[in-house]
Amino acid sequence: MMVQEQRGSETMLYCPKCQVLVKEGDRCPACNSKKLRDPQEGDPVMLLTATEKKCRRIAGALDGQEIPHEERVCGVEGIASAYAGEGGMCNKNIFVPYDRLEEAVELMYHIGVTGSGKSAEEADEAAEMSPRKRFIVRAISVVLFILLIWAVVTMADAAAGWVKSLLYP
Ligand SMILES: [Zn+2]
Repeated sequence: MMVQEQRGSETMLYCPKCQVLVKEGDRCPACNSKKLRDPQEGDPVMLLTATEKKCRRIAGALDGQEIPHEERVCGVEGIASAYAGEGGMCNKNIFVPYDRLEEAVELMYHIGVTGSGKSAEEADEAAEMSPRKRFIVRAISVVLFILLIWAVVTMADAAAGWVKSLLYP
């Protein structure tokens, strides 16, 4: 009893059923279970949920740091998109051992998976489209359009002059 009361707010409880850390309260937010316990070293803990495409990058980063991890497909959305053949939309839960969680969270922040709304990968994709190149193409087409208008107006003037000279010699 005394031990429970002395538990600092920093200490988190663990739901063995969902394999998630419960930050606040004594109930699991996912399954509402009260059967929570202190996390043990090596307990699989859900790090985050990500699309399959993102997962590959995350797994690579975790491998690089030699952090063991487990991927599990989650949700109906994952199954539906698997049938549709859109692998990138398939969501997966990534689990890491409790004793490596802190390291993994830091790593996720470092590779830009968490923290900012836009991932580094998405930013890269946008950069590939090269807005500078598109701007140049657009600028050239504007210049060509002005030249075309000028040519038409000049020719129309010349034509009008020629018609006038025929009608009123
Ligand atoms: Zn739970």
